[in-house]
Amino acid sequence: MKRRTRTLIDLDRNHVWHPFTQMKEWRAEDPIIIERGRGNYLIDTEGKKYLDGVSSLWANVHGHRKREIDRAVKGQLGKVAHSTLLGLGNVPSIELARRLTAIAPRGLTKVFYSDDGSTAVEIALKMAFQYWEQTKKKNTKKKFIAFTGAYHGDTFGSMSVGEIDIFVRKYRPLLFETLRAPYPYCYRCTLKMSYPGCKTACLGVFEEMLRERRGETAACVIEPGFEGAAGMISAPPGFLKGVRRLTRRYGVLMIADEVAAGFGRTGHMFACDAEGVSPDLLCLAKGLTGGYLPLAATLATDRIYRAFLGKHDEFKAFFHGHTYTGNPLGCVAAIANLDVFERERTLDALKGRISLLKELLNGLADLPRVGDIRQTGLVAGIELVKDRATKEPYPANERVGHRVCMEARKSGLMIRPLGDTVVLMPPLSIKEKELEKMVRITRGCIERLTR
Ligand SMILES: *Cc1c(COP(=O)(O)O)cnc(C)c1O
Repeated sequence: MKRRTRTLIDLDRNHVWHPFTQMKEWRAEDPIIIERGRGNYLIDTEGKKYLDGVSSLWANVHGHRKREIDRAVKGQLGKVAHSTLLGLGNVPSIELARRLTAIAPRGLTKVFYSDDGSTAVEIALKMAFQYWEQTKKKNTKKKFIAFTGAYHGDTFGSMSVGEIDIFVRKYRPLLFETLRAPYPYCYRCTLKMSYPGCKTACLGVFEEMLRERRGETAACVIEPGFEGAAGMISAPPGFLKGVRRLTRRYGVLMIADEVAAGFGRTGHMFACDAEGVSPDLLCLAKGLTGGYLPLAATLATDRIYRAFLGKHDEFKAFFHGHTYTGNPLGCVAAIANLDVFERERTLDALKGRISLLKELLNGLADLPRVGDIRQTGLVAGIELVKDRATKEPYPANERVGHRVCMEARKSGLMIRPLGDTVVLMPPLSIKEKELEKMVRITRGCIERLTR
């Protein structure tokens, strides 16, 4: 190992506190320190190349150092790096709002900026809540419905609607109560149904909940397409449409959290597009800037926006904002990201990659410890189980998913698990050869470590 790498690792150990990480374990191993990226690869301080199989945590879209996005950010640096949206406009935030509303599902005409997925969701929750406060005389609609296995971020509001127990358990006394509807995780259906009965049963429970609680429910929040952090749980076709139909019927707002699914991951620009669904609020982050800069957006309909209009002393404004709201560097990166989608016809090019991935994943089905393989577009989750017949999971302390992913690094593939689900979520720009390599390495590692 180079001396410089050694020094960086020591400094990291001494001073950097990593997210979602048991630091005691972290300090016991030598971490990889990334220094540069190029295309679909990351390169560490030792000069070793890794295929970026999780898009740098579900963010990167067209590869690293994409010329058009690099150029846009550099160009903006020659103008101004930051100026506030409080009391001022700025050029890139206006242009991006126009572009986003032009491609978003119908009816979403207003863009509220923030910095990351958690805040995009936090904002949607506050908007939905305040919407009813300002439109109903005696408002009782103060609760949210969310789904089992949901993940919407790490701030208190987004944790409250999330359900992944180990993430939120410690904070539960501080969280607001959320109504919980079953998500059709057909492999482990909470209602003990199999596909497609699982979907129908889940919608049935959801409708029952809406019928009983609509008077107290402000909005329903859902991850369209697939539940990410729960283990890339693909929703059966028609589920999202069903949720939209029922929320409309019972007068409950629908918040679509496309922080992970947005910008092509599912093969559509937005997962909502696959089912022709228009939510009342749409949350975007991760891929918005092509995975370059922390920028997020919450899109709203005119109907919601209008509920916030009034005289100054009615105090109906949306009292929320962050210092870097509408940051020009982030906005030009996002515009360049959308330009690349257009110029390279990214969504068209994806079709072949998605069907190749499907074929390649089929080749893993014979592995005795692979319980379930889930694919939505270019996103896949491979759930490893101790016993395929009973679906019995591995004991958590065996950390099988983690070990498979650490093994993959040795072969030059960077992936990260969710529990014992191995996640494959490459940049949309991944080439067919690289897709093959990614699945071949993954297969080898699963074989070696789950014998
Ligand atoms: C990652 C994610 C978030 C949180 O986004 P951050 O940028 O990490 O705050 C919210 N919702 C979904 C669906 C996500 O995948």
